[in-house]
Parts: sequence; C-alpha cells; structure tokens
Amino acid sequence: MALVSSYELIHKAWEQKKAIPAFNIHNLETIQAVIEGADELKSPVIIQTTPGTLKHAGIEYVAAIVKAAALKYDIPIALHMDHCPSFDTIVNCLRVGYTSVMIDGANCDYADNVELVRSVVKMAHAVNVQVEGEIGKIGGVEDDMFVNEADASFTIPEEAKQFVEDTGIDTLAVAIGTAHGMYKGEPKLDFERIEKIQSMINVPLVLHGASGVPDESVKRAIALGMAKINIATELKNPMAAAIKEVLANPDENDPRNYMGAAREAVKKVVKDKIRLCQTEGFAYEFGVVKK
Ligand SMILES: [Zn+2]
Repeated sequence: MALVSSYELIHKAWEQKKAIPAFNIHNLETIQAVIEGADELKSPVIIQTTPGTLKHAGIEYVAAIVKAAALKYDIPIALHMDHCPSFDTIVNCLRVGYTSVMIDGANCDYADNVELVRSVVKMAHAVNVQVEGEIGKIGGVEDDMFVNEADASFTIPEEAKQFVEDTGIDTLAVAIGTAHGMYKGEPKLDFERIEKIQSMINVPLVLHGASGVPDESVKRAIALGMAKINIATELKNPMAAAIKEVLANPDENDPRNYMGAAREAVKKVVKDKIRLCQTEGFAYEFGVVKK
C-alpha cells in the first residue's frame, strides 16, 4: 500500500497501550531489514531518518526506496523525519512524501522553540502530516547533536502541557531518564514523571533513547502512554558486528555477503523490538487481510 500517516498508527496503539516501533535506517539493507521484519510479524512500522542520514543517503533516494517498499508490502508503513532542527529540511520532507516529522527546537529558548514548532505544525497539517515535538532535553549523541549530562534536563509536566497547547503538536517526545546512544550503567526511567505528564496532556508520548533500556522498563513506559518507541543504536551495533565477522576473512570482498549478513542481523533485532512494542499482528487492525 502507499505510505500511511503515522497519526492513525500511533493513536490506535496509544488507545490499546501498545507502541509503534520507529526504526532509524541508513541505507537500502536497513530499510529492507525493517520492512521484512515488520511484514513477517504483520506489524505497522515507522521508518525514520535523521538529518545526518539524509546527508549521507540523499532524501530522494530514501523516499524512493521506502515508497517502493511500501507498495511491495501490505502492512502500514509511515516515513518519519527524526530530530530535524531545520524548517527548510522539513519543507523538503513534505515535498518528497514524508508522512510525519519531528521538529527539534531544543537549541532555542522557549519562545523561539514555540514559534518554530508552530510554523511547522501549520505547514505540515495543511498537507495532513503529523508533527512530533520535544520538550526537556534528552541527553547523549544523536547525529551531529550532542547534549552532555549536565545540559540534559527532565521534562517538567507543566511545561509539557503549555508546550502542547502553544504549538498544536500531535505527539510529544519527553526527557524522562533515557539518553541517545548506549548507556554505561542501567538507565533509570522516571515513571512517575511519565504518568504525571500523560495525565496533563492529551497527545501520545514518544520514547527516545530506548536502546539499552531493560524490556520491563520499556513495557511499563508503554503502559503509561509511550505510543512510539525510537530504536536507532540497537540496530547499529549488530549491523557492525555482522559486517566485521564476515570481513574477518581477508579474502572476502562481496558487498552482498557482508551487507546481506548485516541485513539479517538487523532484522532479528527489529523483530525482537516489534514484540516488545506488542504490535505483532497489529497490521490486521488497519485493514490488512489475513492470507
Ligand atoms: Zn531522539
């Protein structure tokens, strides 16, 4: 089918205390791994790119591959822009058919952040594209952005409420103890904060920095309102390991072999994460016919 809006996916998941898994992809093989894994488990899925990925792969290439893949399968697939600080890049995303975007004004003060997000919401909603915003600062490394521990700040529930009202965003990314990248120790999620925020706002929450968070914590966060779970680093590690293993043979030079191994390794994690998000078979609730 054609790409779908992530709005319906996330809202239906939110109502049922599930989460839509959102995977950061980098190239053809990672797109294939995500979509094949999702298709095998009949899960809806969000494919997402950061600005760095677009710099590497080219927005036209990414959009064309994901659209071609969506037409090949009958599960609902959305294409999302992750952590985008640039209004101009968002315009380009809309131009090539992204079905949701995240505008990241984390480096602005509150007033400028609201102004930027509002302008994106106005434009994106005009073409039925959903907007994710973020309030509070999630620590760690994401693309070219680095937020050190001292600068990371938890989302304040009252501020979250104000931000949603001021901007009109559809989903909200919150800082509640996770960080981008891999953790040194075990991350502690602030469940009370999630609960408080969710009780005050009427939009689904998004969990960033889920890589390395224990499954039980992710499940509890989903039960409290996290309806989109971002997975990036946990795909990169097995991919790199699989490539290294194949290339340990000094005579190996065939991209089909090492990238093929990478694809299989990524697909395995994708399926684990779909089960964690409890969306196995969820595609059937979006008009997908059982064969
Ligand atoms: Zn993030």
